[in-house]
Amino acid sequence: MRDMTYLLEGLRCSTCRSDNTLWLDLEPGLVECRECGQGALIVADDGEDQ
Ligand SMILES: [Zn+2]
Repeated sequence: MRDMTYLLEGLRCSTCRSDNTLWLDLEPGLVECRECGQGALIVADDGEDQ
């Protein structure tokens, strides 16, 4: 089995305000903060070009 987690560089956790602590887990399609443990589903954000 491969490690399917990737660090999302340049992103900030909206809960604990830490930088570069968000990890993308491709298996369930989740983003989790390693600092505070906050998890969130990935939401495709159409219409906002940022
Ligand atoms: Zn956090």
